[in-house]
Amino acid sequence: MELPLNGSNGELRHRNVATNGNGKSAVTDEGRKMDELLDNHQTYEFGGPWGVTAMMIGFPILMYYLWICLWFYDGKVVYPTSTEDIMPFLNRMWVHVRDDASPNAYAWKVYSGLFFYQLFLAIVMPGYQQEGLPVPSLGYKTLMYNCNAAYCLYATIVTAAGLHYYHIFRLTEIIDNYGHIMSVAMIYGFAWSFGMYFLTVATGNQIRMSGNFIYDVFMGACLNPRIGSVDLKMWAEVRIPWVIVFFLAVSGGCHQYEQYGYVTPNMAFMILATWLYFNACAKGEECIPQTWDMYYEKWGFMVIFWNFAGVPFTYVYSVVYMASHDPETYRFSTPTYVFLFTLLLSAYYIWDTSMSQKSRFKMQCQGMTEFRKTFPQLPGGTIQDPEYIQTSHGNKLLISGWWRYSRKPNYVADWVMSFCWGVIIGNATIIPYFYSVFFITVLVHRCGRDFERCSIKYGKDWERYCSIVKYKFIPGVY
Ligand code: NDP
Repeated sequence: MELPLNGSNGELRHRNVATNGNGKSAVTDEGRKMDELLDNHQTYEFGGPWGVTAMMIGFPILMYYLWICLWFYDGKVVYPTSTEDIMPFLNRMWVHVRDDASPNAYAWKVYSGLFFYQLFLAIVMPGYQQEGLPVPSLGYKTLMYNCNAAYCLYATIVTAAGLHYYHIFRLTEIIDNYGHIMSVAMIYGFAWSFGMYFLTVATGNQIRMSGNFIYDVFMGACLNPRIGSVDLKMWAEVRIPWVIVFFLAVSGGCHQYEQYGYVTPNMAFMILATWLYFNACAKGEECIPQTWDMYYEKWGFMVIFWNFAGVPFTYVYSVVYMASHDPETYRFSTPTYVFLFTLLLSAYYIWDTSMSQKSRFKMQCQGMTEFRKTFPQLPGGTIQDPEYIQTSHGNKLLISGWWRYSRKPNYVADWVMSFCWGVIIGNATIIPYFYSVFFITVLVHRCGRDFERCSIKYGKDWERYCSIVKYKFIPGVY
C-alpha cells in the first residue's frame, strides 16, 4: 500500500514504491513531454565543436606528456626552461613517443588479445538477466542486460594466472610495454568513436544529433549499440578500463616481487583498491542499467576513448612509479598505512552502498523485490521502507539512506577513493594525483549537466527535492 502524506504530486511518500502494478514506472503525460524535450539536441556542452575538438587533440597529448614525465623524468613535471628550449623540448617529447610508445605489433597483440577475449567471454558466459529502465528515446521500451561481468572477471583472472605461471604471457610485460600498449588503446578509442558514428548514421539509428560532425562524434550518435546479447556501451564501461587498471596493479606487484622478493603495502593497497573497483562494477553490474550513462548518455568519443584508453592509462600512475622505484622513496609508518586502508575501505563502503541504494530503489519502482546476491553484499545496500518524493513526471526521487545527506554521496566517496590512489605514493611524485584532480573536474561538470537535466525534467519537484536534500556533495559544506 502506498502512503501519500498529502496525496498530491511533489509530496513525500514512502513504502511500496512500484506505482502502476505492471512492473513499469508510470511516466505521466507531463513527464513524456519533458522527456521528449530532453531527447532533442538542446545546447552545446563541453564548449561546443571547438571545445570537443580541443579535448580530442588534448587528451592524447596530455596522456603522452604525463607518461613521459613519469617514466623518463623520475615523475618530475618537465617543461622548456627558455624560449630557445621549446623546440628541443618538443623534439625530446616526440622522440619518446616515436621510439617508446610506437603502436608496435606486440602491443597490438596484447591489447587486441584482451579486447577480443573480453568480448568473447561476454558473448558466451551465462549471466544474471536484468531489465533496464524504460528508455524514453525508445518509446519507454526496456532492454534486457546479460550481466555476466562477475563470471568474466574470474575467468580472466584464472586465464591471466595461467598465462603468467606458464610463461606464455608474463604479467610484468604490461608495465614494461606501457607506452606501446597505450598508443594502441588510443587508436582503438579513435577508431571505435568514428566507426560507431558512421555505422549509426549509415543505418539511420542516430538520436539527439546536433548536426555538427565533430560534436556528434564526440557525444555519440547511438544510444544502446549491441552485438547479440552484449550491450557494447555497458561492456566497454566495465570490461576494458577496470580490467586493465586491475592488471596494471597486479603487473606492478609482480614487478616488485621479482625485483625485491616481496610486495610493498603501497602496491598491495593499489591491488586491493583496483580489485574493489573492478569487482564492484562486476558484482553490481545489474545496477549499471539504472544509471544515466545507460539510458541517456550516447556512445561517442567522450565515453569510448575514456573507457578504452583514458581510464586504463591515467588512473594508476602510482603503480607505474612504484614498479620502477626504490620502495624507500614512498614508505609510510604503520599508523599511516592503517589510516589509508581504513579510509579506502570506508569510502568504498559508502560508494558501494549508496550506488546500490539508488539502483535498487529504481528497481523497486519497477516492481522488483528480489535482488542479486553477489560477493560481497554489504549491509545497508537496500533500503526497506524508502522515503521519496513523487514527482509529477511520474518518477520518484529517493531521500532516504545516504541520499538524505546529499544529492551526490556516491561522487564524494568515489573521489576519496581516487585521492587514495594518488596519496599512496606520498610526495614522491605529483603525477599520480592527476586522477583525483581530473576526476573532481569531471564530477563537478557531470553533476552540473545531470542537475540541469533533472531540473528541466522535474521542474518544481526538483526544487522541492533540493530544498529537502540541501547539499550537493558534503552535508554542511557544499
Ligand atoms: P546515476 O545515473 O547513477 O545518477 C544520476 C541520475 O539518477 C539522475 O540523472 C536522475 O535520473 C537520478 N537521480 C538523481 N537523484 C536521484 C534520487 N535522489 N532518487 C532517484 N533518482 C535520482 O549517475 P551518477 O553519475 O550519479 O553515478 C554513476 C557512478 O559512476 C558514480 O559513482 C560516479 O562516481 C561513477 N563514475 C566514475 C567515473 C570514473 O571514471 N571513475 C566516471 C563517471 C562516473 P532520472 O531521474 O532521470 O532517473
